[in-house]
Amino acid sequence: MTKPTVAIFGIGLMGAPLAIRLLDADYKVVVWNRTPEKADPLVQIGALRAETAAQAVQSADVLITWLADRVAIQEVLFPAERASLLEGKTILQMATIGPSHSRGIEDAAIAHGTEYIEAPVLGSIPEAIKGTLQVMVGATPEQYEKHLPLLKVFGENPIHVGEVGQAAAMKLAFNQLIAGLTASFSLSLGLIQKEGVRVEQFMDMLRDSALYAPTFDKKLVRMLERDYENPNFPTRHLLKDTELFLDAAAEHGLTAACLEGVRDIIAIAMAKGLADTDYSAINEVIHPPKSST
Ligand code: NAP
Repeated sequence: MTKPTVAIFGIGLMGAPLAIRLLDADYKVVVWNRTPEKADPLVQIGALRAETAAQAVQSADVLITWLADRVAIQEVLFPAERASLLEGKTILQMATIGPSHSRGIEDAAIAHGTEYIEAPVLGSIPEAIKGTLQVMVGATPEQYEKHLPLLKVFGENPIHVGEVGQAAAMKLAFNQLIAGLTASFSLSLGLIQKEGVRVEQFMDMLRDSALYAPTFDKKLVRMLERDYENPNFPTRHLLKDTELFLDAAAEHGLTAACLEGVRDIIAIAMAKGLADTDYSAINEVIHPPKSST
């Protein structure tokens, strides 16, 4: 089967490694980014640069959105003058957005004669590079089968979650856990350090217990060393996803007071200038260094 030409909208932390995977898998890849120079390294290894988003839409069959949020997706793909260009294309939406937002974009796509599927992912830059992302697909069974070869470039076993909106919901369910587990771990670690308990003793017992989550060890050194540079997933995206989950919880009548507290902590971290650091920087709010208490 002929491989579709793929355009990637958004050459950020995730869009860039995924463009490389597509090039390595011999796809023809068109790249567009609001800040064009971020696409330069991809152009040097064989991607085709689109000067405008409209040109990217025109030159590809599948339009992959790796943009920050729903607003960016709407601004890039759905301005009125672009309506006719979308006809007959497929939008493959991979960023983290809310279930109702994804369903809204599906409605807009269908109105433009465009196929729409969602495929948010669990995992970050290392998994994107290796092609081991956990891909969650919201689509009809037929769409899932049709686009499986492309989805497999990103992760070995893309999971068909259900219809559009359901994969977005599953992704938010995971990211709610990222927010809650990270805040909880930082809080416990803070007490351990304040009381002078040996951190290794705490970690050894934690690792042997039912309370352990691997993310704790992934964030331990960052929190102990207060080093949040070179993020895979920045604080600003965790705030976005926490707010998306709170919106969905409100829509469904779920009590999410615990997550509201975490959201407030993340917002304080943002105000402290930690928007672009690794999200484990919420540790600086939960357990601030001595000088700032
Ligand atoms: P990122 O590095 O911040 O990149 C965001 C991209 O969106 C950039 O290309 C940016 O363009 C573009 N953008 C933002 N606002 C725009 C607008 N109004 N118009 C046009 N372009 C706009 O983000 P990322 O980490 O790649 O994440 C992208 C999405 O995937 C987010 O929804 C995130 O939550 C999700 N995600 C991230 C990870 C991760 O580990 N990083 C994992 C899973 C899912 P500029 O370069 O011009 O700013």
